[in-house]
Amino acid sequence: MLEIRDLHATVAGKPILDGLTLSIPAGEVHAIMGPNGAGKSTLAYVLGGRPDYEVTGGSVLFDGVELLEREPHERAAAGLFLGFQYPVEIPGVSYLQFLRESLNAQRRARGEAELSGAEFIRLARAQAGELGMDAEMLKRPVNVGFSGGEKKRAEMVQMGIMDPRFAILDETDSGLDIDALRAVGAGINRIMRAPDKGVLLITHYQRLLDYVRPDRVHVLRAGRIERSGGAELALELEREGYVEAAA
Ligand code: ADP
Ligand code: MG
Ligand code: MG
Repeated sequence: MLEIRDLHATVAGKPILDGLTLSIPAGEVHAIMGPNGAGKSTLAYVLGGRPDYEVTGGSVLFDGVELLEREPHERAAAGLFLGFQYPVEIPGVSYLQFLRESLNAQRRARGEAELSGAEFIRLARAQAGELGMDAEMLKRPVNVGFSGGEKKRAEMVQMGIMDPRFAILDETDSGLDIDALRAVGAGINRIMRAPDKGVLLITHYQRLLDYVRPDRVHVLRAGRIERSGGAELALELEREGYVEAAA
């Protein structure tokens, strides 16, 4: 489903990704772990098409189509969803407005009809309910004054509304208490565990993987995949750290 081949990328002229190769078949959840500064977030940004992250080699096929030649909004329309460690705050725009515009932009790009206001509110309420979030909260400006847990629950509401085919979630577990972690994990499983979907879960810690069991775990270090294994590799890394695991 997602086929990353020999990917090289620089940030501010500095080489970060250095021949990264990774293949994620449909129906699977893959976790990427690795030390700070390894290039994990850079990989997420490159896949999302963020400016300033320059691809200097390699390819990324999404359902057989070159992703790197597409604009960020085209990647989203193709069904790619990115969740980030530090969600943006957008003062003056309510979360509901933001979600509705995101969804309708995606539907327009796909040649689908926009949802009516009533249809959208029904969908947003249902998704908020799934995450144990009061839909009233979504009337507030995007992420402004949200706690870490509220931001991540809201991001899962967004993911549920967008219903992507492939999600890349960068340290979506950072700063979450155990209830929020469980809710987010359940959200990922509910929305993304399907035979035609895939997930790339970037995480420092094993704990999210207790809730979202990965089919494969990869260690990213110095811009490439150093090692891959099953779910047990995450436990080994947690026990022994990256240095010992690499030895
Ligand atoms: P990780 O997510 O694995 O901790 P990152 O992808 O965030 O690692 O960072 C990889 C390397 O790229 C680090 O050395 C970091 O300092 C550098 N880097 C990331 N973003 C920028 C930037 N905007 N400008 C300069 N260097 C950056
Ligand atoms: Mg980091
Ligand atoms: Mg990072």
